[in-house]
Amino acid sequence: MGKWVYLFKEGNADMRNLLGGKGANLAEMTNLGLPIPQGFTVTTEACIDYYDQGKMIKEEIQMQIFEALAKLEEQQGKKFGDNDNPLLVSVRSGARASMPGMMDTILNLGLNDVSVEVFAKKTGNPRFAYDSYRRFIQMFSDVVMELSKTFFEGILDEIKEKKGVQYDTDLTAEDLREIIVRYKSVYKEKMGEEFPQEPKVQLMEAVKAVFRSWDNPRAIVYRRMNDIPGDWGTAVSVQAMVFGNTGNKSGTGVAFTRNPSTGEKGIYGEYLINAQGEDVVAGIRTPLPIKRLEEDMPNVFKQFMEIANKLENHYRDMQDMEFTIEDEKLFFLQTRNGKRTAPAALQIACDLVDEGKITPIEAIKRIEAKSLDQLLHPMFVVKALQEGKVLGHALPASPGAAAGKVYFTAEAAKEHHNAGERVILVRLETSPEDIEGMHAAEGILTVRGGMTSHAAVVARGMGTACISGCGEIKIDEAAKLFELGGEIISEGDYISLDGSTGKIYLGDIQTEEAQIGGNFERIMAWADEYRKLKVRTNADTPADAANAVKLGAEGIGLCRTEHMFFEPDRIPKIRQMILSTTEEERIKALSGLIPYQKQDFKGIYEAMEGRPVTIRFLDPPLHEFVPTEEKDIEELAKRMELTVKQVKKACDELHEFNPMMGHRGCRLAVTYPEIAKMQTRAVMEAAIEVNNERGFHIEPEIMIPLVGEKKELKFVKDSVIEVAEKVKKEYGSNIIYHIGTMIEIPRAALLANEIAEEAEFFSFGTNDLTQMTFGFSRDDAGKFLDAYYKSKIYESDPFSKLDQNGVGQLIEMAIKKGRATRPDLHLGICGEHGGDPASVEFCHKLGLDYVSCSPFRVPIARLAAAQAALK
Ligand code: PEP
Ligand code: MG
Repeated sequence: MGKWVYLFKEGNADMRNLLGGKGANLAEMTNLGLPIPQGFTVTTEACIDYYDQGKMIKEEIQMQIFEALAKLEEQQGKKFGDNDNPLLVSVRSGARASMPGMMDTILNLGLNDVSVEVFAKKTGNPRFAYDSYRRFIQMFSDVVMELSKTFFEGILDEIKEKKGVQYDTDLTAEDLREIIVRYKSVYKEKMGEEFPQEPKVQLMEAVKAVFRSWDNPRAIVYRRMNDIPGDWGTAVSVQAMVFGNTGNKSGTGVAFTRNPSTGEKGIYGEYLINAQGEDVVAGIRTPLPIKRLEEDMPNVFKQFMEIANKLENHYRDMQDMEFTIEDEKLFFLQTRNGKRTAPAALQIACDLVDEGKITPIEAIKRIEAKSLDQLLHPMFVVKALQEGKVLGHALPASPGAAAGKVYFTAEAAKEHHNAGERVILVRLETSPEDIEGMHAAEGILTVRGGMTSHAAVVARGMGTACISGCGEIKIDEAAKLFELGGEIISEGDYISLDGSTGKIYLGDIQTEEAQIGGNFERIMAWADEYRKLKVRTNADTPADAANAVKLGAEGIGLCRTEHMFFEPDRIPKIRQMILSTTEEERIKALSGLIPYQKQDFKGIYEAMEGRPVTIRFLDPPLHEFVPTEEKDIEELAKRMELTVKQVKKACDELHEFNPMMGHRGCRLAVTYPEIAKMQTRAVMEAAIEVNNERGFHIEPEIMIPLVGEKKELKFVKDSVIEVAEKVKKEYGSNIIYHIGTMIEIPRAALLANEIAEEAEFFSFGTNDLTQMTFGFSRDDAGKFLDAYYKSKIYESDPFSKLDQNGVGQLIEMAIKKGRATRPDLHLGICGEHGGDPASVEFCHKLGLDYVSCSPFRVPIARLAAAQAALK
């Protein structure tokens, strides 16, 4: 028989996986001899078993719960469900990692119609007894039976109004008795049965509710955003009640040992006299700052501070504590390492190192790599955000907070931005010609597209907040409005986007600028000391490259050359090239393009100051580049000296049923070798000239995309070598250059030993590799992945977090096979996963040389790489 239930005194802080964070810390505090109301914890394994049994708690577990309950009764000298001396308990959830999306607490469990009367008599405080019972009915109905709180709050408000009082503390015992009668009748009406009177039934229902809450939609979303596996389960802690609502010598509160927003040292928190549980945060009465407790109850305050300090020293981290005072007696209900903003995390880590409490290695391990996003992008002012109304939710494609007026075209966004407005660009999907509007916008919202769609990739590069794939939006571009969350938003109305959570808010929510200070540099320097992986960036312009260097990039792992033609004066030129029907026309179009490209390559090489730069040859998926709007078609017709009809016909001929698997990547260079040849000339000339001008030793790295066959790579490579050698001769240069490929087609991974014969380096293009391994389009997957999360088929978006099980195997195989052919094969990753901490850890384990990610994610990758090395 397994052990499914532990008394607090049987556990300790190391048993977090089994007892959850709350259970493990309650056990630890018990061992430390602190004033903790005693109890027991039902393990996370019991939760997993509940699901394995088809959502049932098996007999054995129930038996152990009742045994633990009997021991608790003995300890407390009270009896559960007893009519003379009833034991009351609280029931709370507690997973390994704290998860705010889960179940709320249930307090006062064990009360019923009979015991409440005994309780009233015994305490000599009927008001308190009835208040406890009405709270219990409300919490049980809401949390266990999922009966909306609003029914109960409505009754409470009605009676307060009838009695002419403002606060529930002003209600008399008689008023509360009336409330109980009404609460119970609502329960009966809605549930079709009486409110359960048997305490053991109440308890088992509450435990089941905690287990069920592990899989509620909020919890699933939270897990996906925080990389928490679905098979961890949650524990349940059952704890003897202490009461903060017995009168004016009682109260309840929450406190942090340091300020969770800024990290500043010193106690920070609030409490409320004569209150229970959620009252402190519910905002009905205004809580008092914790320092006031020193005046109100000096002895309690002194003891509180001693314990708070003891806990921080014990855990060597900032603590978030809940406490209750019952008739001037202090109890701690929980402690945990407090959640904190990114600036606070850095401040606290640096302070703890300076105070000699932790080492720099521990400091590195403690900071959540993903949270560094907050430091580099604007954030919402916390108070303002709390008041915001959420309209909807979609993919958090590029982090940061943005608020502005809605515009539906890039032109309108640009125009209103130039007029001094803050704008949000809302599009069905973005395409390259939107680039200026995207630049002008504070934030971008798209109806279609996944985490690697055009909008997502470009916005991340620019550091602009973006939410993509919001299929719930009903957009009417002609009428310039959209509908979401029951609201109609018209052009010029304000909305706010949180690109870090994917939430879309109504109205203009105040944001504040990002700030990076000395703490950031200190932590980054520590991280750099320990990491093994190099960190490069994906950058396509000199400005992005320079920004990435500031953020610590050690090279460019991916320069997408087709992205260099997004500017409005350039896009017609690349379109002209794509639509050319003869070699002559194509060479003419290319001649208009390549000089720009050479200039940009020079700019990038200069910005990178001799650091390595991988330049990826053209890979324009045609659906992103072929014009669709009438005015773009007209402009192109003029430029190509063709009729609109002819251009339309050419576009139609280029139409592909599946452009992501279409005529792109090296397939273009196989069909039209002149493209690769002219790009080679631009790369080589730029590198030689910058080396000559600046005294660098740049060795150009030319990367051929979308290769699936050695001969295909060899074919393109031959063109590259032919031109590269010619340029070297023309310049009298002996510059060294490298030719490699992306591994982004499963066949390339399978045949990596052959491909490595022609490639000096591999860069894993995990956007396409994921798309092709799963067989679903990176642009369309957003539409159906939600159903997969809800059905627990997938836990996370494989375009954000690398699928180590499947795609990971291909990478591992390609590394092994590639290195067998070429032991010094240089290896990196440049798909979007290069900036995701869990994926970075995987890359470290596989022994890649570097990861490459968008500039703003470089610090995240640096920290994640150090954390991986220190695991
Ligand atoms: C990839 O496929 O992972 C990649 C980096 O290339 P792109 O996103 O440009 O297709
Ligand atoms: Mg690709």
